[in-house]
Amino acid sequence: MAQIIDGKAISAQIREEMKQEVVRLKEQGICPGLAVIIVGEDPASKVYVRNKKKACEEIGIYSVVHELSEQTSEEELLALVRQLNGDERINGILVQLPLPKHLNSDLIINNISPNKDVDAFHPFNVGKIMIGDYDFLPCTPAGVMELIERSGVDVNGKNCVVVGRSNIVGKPQAMLLLQKNGTVTICHSRTKNLAEICRSADILVAAVGKEAIITADMVKEGAVVIDVGMNRNAEGKLCGDVDFAAVEKKASFITPVPGGVGPMTITMLLKNTLKAATLKK
Ligand code: NDP
Repeated sequence: MAQIIDGKAISAQIREEMKQEVVRLKEQGICPGLAVIIVGEDPASKVYVRNKKKACEEIGIYSVVHELSEQTSEEELLALVRQLNGDERINGILVQLPLPKHLNSDLIINNISPNKDVDAFHPFNVGKIMIGDYDFLPCTPAGVMELIERSGVDVNGKNCVVVGRSNIVGKPQAMLLLQKNGTVTICHSRTKNLAEICRSADILVAAVGKEAIITADMVKEGAVVIDVGMNRNAEGKLCGDVDFAAVEKKASFITPVPGGVGPMTITMLLKNTLKAATLKK
């Protein structure tokens, strides 16, 4: 039976560490600040933004939320981003995605100052991750690495399989595992023999967005299984990409959904904001 990796507990532990860090920074006259921009009325995005503000308050980070109407023009949004780029109280800027269709997300992200890009989506930061010389890591893959490492799992020399190749999860996840000396394979919708490749994994990360796509026959006995997926099942309940009940019997470590990777994402955003506050201007 696998050991459950408790993302809530690990996240709480890291936030406690960061609280102390904020106190230390404030003693040095540094007050970390995060600005979150949300455009429109998407209910899920509103919940995420509320949770981010609450998390900032809990650890002592100054935060401000800019709620813009659905009709906001690209020029107006860019003007706000530029204003925040120059605002000394703000160390991190986050534009909640997805944006309404008439707004070009790439253009907006590319206009965030790279040293305030706490989502690590700006091409400059993406490039730095590729080289291995980075200030910020994208929040979800960084959270996965914390879960793996704080569970005492050593990536060095392990076969790592990442299912999913999105720019925000799969690709950076593969890069981070590679940096820790994993031997990494990336799978996607065109991959042939997905089950066979997954069975070769000592560490398997599923980031697809399809309920129970990873079944027990795809998992090696004793593998570490990390489930990034966030899906709704037929009953409307939150579930991951992994058939948890069956895979739990084979894996050595497994993350649940909810309560695994999810709680780590905001925690890593806070971590990036603290990092941004200490960067030389
Ligand atoms: P995307 O839709 O951007 O990417 C999904 C990836 O899965 C693609 O690379 C796609 O391949 C691949 N894929 C689709 N079908 C298959 C298949 N049958 N076999 C193998 N690979 C397949 O999703 P994201 O990366 O943004 O998110 C993935 C999941 O993680 C979602 O459930 C999302 O909700 C969740 N998520 C959770 C977060 C958290 O905090 N816990 C944060 C971010 C995401 P291809 O490229 O060929 O299309």
